[in-house]
Amino acid sequence: MNPTILVVEDEPAIQDLIQINLEMGGYRVLTHDSAESALKQVQLELPDLALLDWMLPGMSGVDLARRLRSDSRTKSLPIILLTAKGEEEDKLKGLESGADDYMTKPFSVRELEARIKAVLRRRAPELTQDVIEYHGLRLDPTSHKISGHGQTLSMGPTEFRLLHFFMTHIERVYSRTQLLDFVWGDHVFIEERTVDVHIRRLRAALSPSKHDFLVHTVRGSGYRFAAD
Ligand code: CA
Repeated sequence: MNPTILVVEDEPAIQDLIQINLEMGGYRVLTHDSAESALKQVQLELPDLALLDWMLPGMSGVDLARRLRSDSRTKSLPIILLTAKGEEEDKLKGLESGADDYMTKPFSVRELEARIKAVLRRRAPELTQDVIEYHGLRLDPTSHKISGHGQTLSMGPTEFRLLHFFMTHIERVYSRTQLLDFVWGDHVFIEERTVDVHIRRLRAALSPSKHDFLVHTVRGSGYRFAAD
């Protein structure tokens, strides 16, 4: 699945430049020219990363970043701030607002893409294309192939995403709501029971190589992926 990037930038030329290049890089891009319309967008769909221009008409990018950080639904959304300002003090103010990274205009598109990748790797490793191995289970996001002790395992796209998320978040307990947010991208229109259905399918898909034991049900809490 291609990561969705929310771009909030009021200068059309820069907005276009970012959109064209990120789309060529395989990202899905949602553009907005004000913080107010971006907030409406976020209520409908949670992006994977937000790229916010500092100076916007109306609410500033810094205030938008603070707003996103204070809302439980968007508090872990990775944020990169763009600005024409270059002062150290501004940089600190930007990072204090909760942004993960900060870029000064003019920037090269190549550097922007590198920063996006770095932030996603740190904050949302399930969105990167790195091959992951755990206890004989191997997942390759590029080819969408999974194998257990060398044996190919087949599963549906949702089970694949779920497994990718689990394999990049070993040993932690996730509630159904959290899994819907992280794996489905949004919990608004999906019932929590859906998670149980896909967990069942994932266990069945992992059973040929006996890796189904990795998926633990944590009573009253949710699910956990680990070898013990
Ligand atoms: Ca601006």
